[in-house]
Amino acid sequence: MTTNGWEPVVGLEIHVHLKTRTKMFCRCELAYGAPENSRTCPVCLAHPGTLPVPNRAAIEATIKLGLALGCRIAPRALFHRKHYFYPDLPKGYQISQYDVPLCSDGRFAVPAPGGDREIEIVRAHLEEDAAKTVHVGGESGRIGGAAHSNVDFNRGGTPLVEIVTRPDLHSPEDARAFLQLLRQTIVELGISDAEMEKGTLRADANISVRRAGERALRTRTELKNMNSFSFIARGIEAEVARQVAVWESGGEVTQQTFDYDAATGKLRPHRTKEEAEDYRYLPEPDLVPVEPPAELVERLRAEVPELPSSRVRLLMDAHGRSYESALFIGRLPFADLFREMIKAGWHADDAEHALMNTFSAIDVRPELENLAELYRVYAVRHELPRPVVIEATSASSRAGFSAEPYLAQRAVADLSELDPVIDRILAANEPQVAQYRAGKEGLLGFFVGQVMRETQGKASPQVVNERLREKLKS
Ligand SMILES: [Zn+2]
Repeated sequence: MTTNGWEPVVGLEIHVHLKTRTKMFCRCELAYGAPENSRTCPVCLAHPGTLPVPNRAAIEATIKLGLALGCRIAPRALFHRKHYFYPDLPKGYQISQYDVPLCSDGRFAVPAPGGDREIEIVRAHLEEDAAKTVHVGGESGRIGGAAHSNVDFNRGGTPLVEIVTRPDLHSPEDARAFLQLLRQTIVELGISDAEMEKGTLRADANISVRRAGERALRTRTELKNMNSFSFIARGIEAEVARQVAVWESGGEVTQQTFDYDAATGKLRPHRTKEEAEDYRYLPEPDLVPVEPPAELVERLRAEVPELPSSRVRLLMDAHGRSYESALFIGRLPFADLFREMIKAGWHADDAEHALMNTFSAIDVRPELENLAELYRVYAVRHELPRPVVIEATSASSRAGFSAEPYLAQRAVADLSELDPVIDRILAANEPQVAQYRAGKEGLLGFFVGQVMRETQGKASPQVVNERLREKLKS
């Protein structure tokens, strides 16, 4: 995308909290919403003489993510100390990774109508999160105006993966599309809930602009603390516009960090924790290098499931869905449900419509095991009433969700009712009938959709499907 001959150049840094049982270097349990400072121990409070012990599950989750991002897995990765001073960091340094991260040099493909867009992944490394500072009292809870600040150490030491991309994104929409697919990938890997509202997924953007055709990169700024996909897109848009205006008025963009204020749509200078650029990285002397054996990497590679990108691509290419709806339908188990609906003769538009309407406000977990039952309801009633969906998605697989009570409204399968409708539709769409008979069998879904619309969704799709095939044969 270029605006007035200017091309945005955007790179992203994404932080993901891993969904492990315990913290990165101690055995404190992770628990969101637990009472303040109830999940702490001498290790994560940095008492003298304590030693960190790395969390194996966090290392494995990071390797899995690295494999899904097409990264090289380092045979010997190092932990470093990153020094800075802040009340939420009791050790005075954060254990992170520096020049030898666990995962590097990856590629992540985002399906697009004209072919995949490849985003290079510079690195994905493992570190511990800082504690949480809560500013209390004063004006609007901001640091400068707060009466005092509290620190909640529950979050301190949470395993955190930082993913860094090359500046391969060239529009706010690209950045959003990339992040949405990345989030879905992380969720399906089962390594994090990656919820921006809860702070388990956070993204910062590095932004610069250049004249179309220019190769060199100009000065970039950083945009922090954006807590939804649309804010990220809008924040980038605002910063790109600001930079273009600066350059066009003969000024110069200077290196700076901004927060995007979603309420006003304005950028405001970020209050930095520390000005020092030099973190005095040094190898963590209390930890040995991480040396994942080749067999472990291969086992983890085998555990990486089919990634959402392939389903999104298929939905776009074979079923003509937009990226947005492919991303939505591409989530398990919608992809299965959609496939079943298409097989049953639904037009892709109608199937998409039904899924979006029914599910858009409900967070369905990928491990939903009541899909078959839910589909029975759909097949019979040709609708998925929201209360039923909620019941099915909240029932644990062991409790078992049964479609039986919801099958009362039988679909119309009576041919004396359906035949006149079908005949009317075939008569009204002669060109399509001719095309179908000439071999364009994909048009069957079109006719099924028409019948469904005419009967307000009450017809049995299977019966309509069979009947149409018969009538179109002659
Ligand atoms: Zn602890």
